[in-house]
Amino acid sequence: MSTPKIVILGAGYGGLLTALGLQKKLNYNEAEVTLVNKHTYHYLTTWLHEPAAGTSSADHARVELDRIVDMQKIKFVKGAVQSIQSTEQTVTLENGDVLSYDYLVIALGSESETFGIEGLKEYAFGIRSINSVRQIREHIEYMFAKYKTEPHRTDYLTFVVGGAGFTGIEFCGELTDRVPELCKEFDVDPELVKIYSVEAAPTALPGFDPELVEYAMNVLTRKGVEFRISTPVKQCTPDGVVLATGEEIKSKTVIWTGGVRGNSIVEKSGFEVMRGRVKVDEYMRAPGHDNVFVVGDCALVFNPEGRPYPPTAQISIQEGENTAQNLVALIRNAPLTPFVPALQGTLASLGKGEGMGVVFGGKKVFGTSAALMKKASDLRYLYKIGGVGLALSKVKL
Ligand code: FAD
Ligand code: NAD
Repeated sequence: MSTPKIVILGAGYGGLLTALGLQKKLNYNEAEVTLVNKHTYHYLTTWLHEPAAGTSSADHARVELDRIVDMQKIKFVKGAVQSIQSTEQTVTLENGDVLSYDYLVIALGSESETFGIEGLKEYAFGIRSINSVRQIREHIEYMFAKYKTEPHRTDYLTFVVGGAGFTGIEFCGELTDRVPELCKEFDVDPELVKIYSVEAAPTALPGFDPELVEYAMNVLTRKGVEFRISTPVKQCTPDGVVLATGEEIKSKTVIWTGGVRGNSIVEKSGFEVMRGRVKVDEYMRAPGHDNVFVVGDCALVFNPEGRPYPPTAQISIQEGENTAQNLVALIRNAPLTPFVPALQGTLASLGKGEGMGVVFGGKKVFGTSAALMKKASDLRYLYKIGGVGLALSKVKL
């Protein structure tokens, strides 16, 4: 039999960990592994709120793939996936190239969920990629510059964050750290700057521990965020947002953090999805496709109580590792291992030196210790993918 071809789509947390696992476990010529990604770099999506606000550079959140992937063992293709033809076992890229596979790993991440809300696609920014956060940072700076030439336009200094889930909360934390710097740089009175966090549910971070939510909201309120709770965004316009209460907030900067759905390529390619995510079997395979694994934000995995796990980097990493193990098993005709996540907790940052979360099976952590634990978990990840050198090169306390 010819050497089996494994194609991995996406080099985010799920795809990268699949590739690194295969790189480590496969023997010479046991399989031909191809990793396809839009960019030549992996980025730490979990850090993107920082470069979006401008509290760190976008470069800090990216790692060149040739620094962490052994390109002798893994063939890298820089390209954008357009579609998957599962019957033909091929993948078509936007440049027209077609790749064939025996085994496929779909790890294309997520897209913003806009729930059909008018104007969001057109006028709101999303914290999605290195390119998108560069744009947000530049735009925020431009708004300060513009205000200086049109000082009656306070809407230039009004920032609306739609959705107070973890992404929205973490971004607000960074933005409140960045505003004083921008005010100094552009000689703007800080009192004129408004940051609104607008949330549809009766609380920020719905479903999360109430004590921690209260802590987060108090910290952010103290730092200057104004919350609008139980207030869905109804419409986004070039001039701001209209809320379900009828209130209109005039702003030239709306950041939409109202949720995510799986990459639309998966649904367009004919896989059955729920909010863009494939309800995978116990081995992370798409139903009816024994040679197609789906990992990360494109996959839907349920906990023993029948509720979906939230799409996180933590789970994506573990899914990637499990999938690498199962691909090796398939090639060697060995039994597959079901995917069982080992959840380590949740930690969220609230700006420099501030955070909160739950660790070690339920222990609540607040403030500096939570922020340090989050940094430690980031460093563990960097060490995992690139060793001490990479981890040290990205240390930022
Ligand atoms: P991604 O990491 O998004 O990677 C997808 C990859 O596919 C990217 O490299 C992308 O370039 C590539 N790609 C996309 N489309 C194409 C295409 N058409 N062709 C080729 N390549 C393509 N989770 C946590 O567990 N902890 C946290 O602290 C945390 N913080 C977060 C903070 C922010 C600001 C955000 C936005 C999310 C955070 N998350 C966190 C969630 C976490 O980032 C995601 O769950 C995780 O990134 C999903 O991993 P993935 O591999 O599925 O996708
Ligand atoms: P999310 O789905 O977790 O939160 C979106 C929020 O937007 C919800 O609170 C929702 O009620 C609100 N919302 C929806 N429609 C709205 C509307 N019309 N108006 C106002 N609010 C509205 O999405 P997210 O925050 O982008 O997170 C995506 C995933 O990434 C989640 O699984 C999350 O756990 C994970 N994440 C984790 C961390 C962390 O662990 N530190 C950080 C960021 C993201």
